Amino acid sequence: MITSHAPVHCPADLAEALALRAAHPEAMPLAGGTDVMVFVESGTLSPPAFLNLWGLAELRGVQADGDGLRLGALCTYTELEADARVQATAPALVEAARTVGAKQIQNRGTLAGNVANASPAGDSLPVLLALDAEVEVASVRGTRRIPMDALYTGYRKLALAPDELITAICLPARHPADVQYYRKVGTRLAQAISKVMLGGRLRIEGGVVTEARVAFGSVAAFPVRARTVEAALVGRPVDAAAADLVGADIKPIDDIRSTATYRLEVARRILQGWLAAVAAEGASSSR
Ligand SMILES: Cc1cc2nc3c(=O)[nH]c(=O)nc-3n(C[C@H](O)[C@H](O)[C@H](O)COP(=O)(O)OP(=O)(O)OC[C@H]3O[C@@H](n4cnc5c(N)ncnc54)[C@H](O)[C@@H]3O)c2cc1C
Repeated sequence: MITSHAPVHCPADLAEALALRAAHPEAMPLAGGTDVMVFVESGTLSPPAFLNLWGLAELRGVQADGDGLRLGALCTYTELEADARVQATAPALVEAARTVGAKQIQNRGTLAGNVANASPAGDSLPVLLALDAEVEVASVRGTRRIPMDALYTGYRKLALAPDELITAICLPARHPADVQYYRKVGTRLAQAISKVMLGGRLRIEGGVVTEARVAFGSVAAFPVRARTVEAALVGRPVDAAAADLVGADIKPIDDIRSTATYRLEVARRILQGWLAAVAAEGASSSR
């Protein structure tokens, strides 16, 4: 229930939603409402109007997208966890979905809501970076895709025009030589806001890393790729020592949830642990 007295626009379809978005850019999009309602209830947000997306069939469901997947903006975490195609293409995203809130939030919270909310602690964001996801956005002017890597331009700032809505998150096909990883560190296992998250993907061909993605959340104003670490990993067998370079890529801050020193050390250790496990797995499977 919305406890503000702001009007709520309820479009019947995507075309109407985009027309309303163009005519009323001040109206805040509302998907599952699990972020918006917290802000409204706490008084930190009082938008003059809402644009309710929840009824839009065009934003629902998982579809094939070439060899990859198109995850509708309104896909909930529960839907992602249950979908066999998502499990096969993006096991790390399924892992991340399982760590979000509790079941009630997973049933109602959406992937695009997490992306658009743009919290540095948004749990899906490092994985989407690691998977080279693209964010599909639409307006009355047309549709375009923004690489996840180019989506955030500052703290809670997205490269979206005021008349655009997120319509889907697109994932490339999973390469058979890819291994994926997700790890969330919080104060407890459920209902915890992350202190550090790691999303990772390594492509290992002929015993050598040919592509590396290492992305962290909660360590900067928005989720970031650790490009120094990535560069050090490519062109050789998996080497856990690359984790020691993480300080060149992330400069965490102290805040109410954690300290910069803790975050940097935890980021290094969880990365080192993952890389060491992948290296050990490779050594045992090549025996
Ligand atoms: C108790 C609780 C626990 C939580 N735990 C976690 C957690 O563990 N990890 C985590 O990452 N998050 C957590 N959250 C936050 C929240 O549930 C997620 O971020 C969720 O994915 C938001 O999705 P939503 O559909 O509810 O978004 P909404 O609240 O509807 O919207 C969020 C933002 O996105 C915008 N938006 C939504 N859809 C679109 C769209 N299609 N196009 C453009 N803009 C759009 C809205 O305008 C708003 O700014 C928690 C929240 C609560 C209340």
